[in-house]
Amino acid sequence: MSERPTAAKTLDRDDLIVISGAGGFIAGALTRYFHDQGFARIRAIDKKPLPDWYQRVPGVESLCLDLSDWDNCQRACQGAAEVYNLAADMGGMGFIEKFRVECLRSILINTHMIEAAHQAGAERYFFSSSACAYNTELQKDPRARALKESDAYPAMAERGYGWEKLMSEMFCQEYWAERRLKTFIARFHNVYGPYGTWDGGREKAPAALCRKVIEARDTGNYEIVIWGDGTQTRSFMYIDDCAKGIDWIMHCDGLVATPINLGSSELVSINELVSLIEGIAGIQLERRYDLDAPQGVAGRNSDNTFIQQVLNWEPNTPLREGLARTYAWIAQQYYDRKAGKPTPAAERALPLR
Ligand code: NAD
Repeated sequence: MSERPTAAKTLDRDDLIVISGAGGFIAGALTRYFHDQGFARIRAIDKKPLPDWYQRVPGVESLCLDLSDWDNCQRACQGAAEVYNLAADMGGMGFIEKFRVECLRSILINTHMIEAAHQAGAERYFFSSSACAYNTELQKDPRARALKESDAYPAMAERGYGWEKLMSEMFCQEYWAERRLKTFIARFHNVYGPYGTWDGGREKAPAALCRKVIEARDTGNYEIVIWGDGTQTRSFMYIDDCAKGIDWIMHCDGLVATPINLGSSELVSINELVSLIEGIAGIQLERRYDLDAPQGVAGRNSDNTFIQQVLNWEPNTPLREGLARTYAWIAQQYYDRKAGKPTPAAERALPLR
């Protein structure tokens, strides 16, 4: 454990850490993580207005900037020792299947951020890639084998969102090859936890299902609509594992410009996920299946052989434990909003044009 590479061992306490997308879910948690480790200079950036950020961490320089704009990226990266780029126009399957143009346009963010990080003389650059970069042909069966890093090529990524990730990964690899910027690339597999999107059209399955169960409980309408037939399989990584994994990957010199899975290998079907949440809520609902709703690939899991080899670790928070914490937070948000209290929110998914 102690020999793992970390920010705490690599950086001075007053080196500047820049985190983009920090008004959102994962970068918000990462900001809190580094703050709690005692780093004194953190710059957090998001295009969302500050009152809509899920977490505002005291003592952190928090800026509202659109990072698809070059000048803003220069401003964001000024003086940075390390840059973590987690800003992206994204959401769950309902969003990325409908808004491919928005997803593709996130390439502007990475293109400008990596150049700005390089010009600013940053020592390390992190890019949040996704399991959606993997070849979809390998994910057509709910019992499909887990995806290992080499499965991204030959490429047939998720249209829009997945191709943007793959292309941005290539930027990271070439910035290392040609310009010697140390880049690090993690392919996240479904992340969930408190302080993330739970309604509005961008939410992902665990948060959406928690919200539906909470609503059913509250309204007494003991019914739930599930997208697809519920047999699709996925793995879900708890947010604390994600923040820790980002730190360890970013400071592991053996991983420069090398994509690595960061995900849980605890595979469940969507039906099993619903049962777990029902168990937490202490209710059972009648299930209705919407076969026309977006549902993504049939099966996807993370092969963690590589991360085990390099870091002697893999994300390991048990799903039930992480879901209980997520459910409690969403229930709190739900009832706060119902009572008219202000609650942070994601930018709403655009209506279809
Ligand atoms: P999120 O939507 O909660 O956070 C992303 C943030 O980026 C949002 O707050 C958004 O306002 C901000 N943003 C978008 N465009 C911007 C711009 N032009 N300038 C500045 N900020 C901008 O999403 P998240 O779940 O926290 O995801 C973070 C990263 O991880 C993204 O790159 C995402 O693609 C990747 N990822 C997430 C998951 C997951 O399960 N959540 C899985 C795979 C990959």
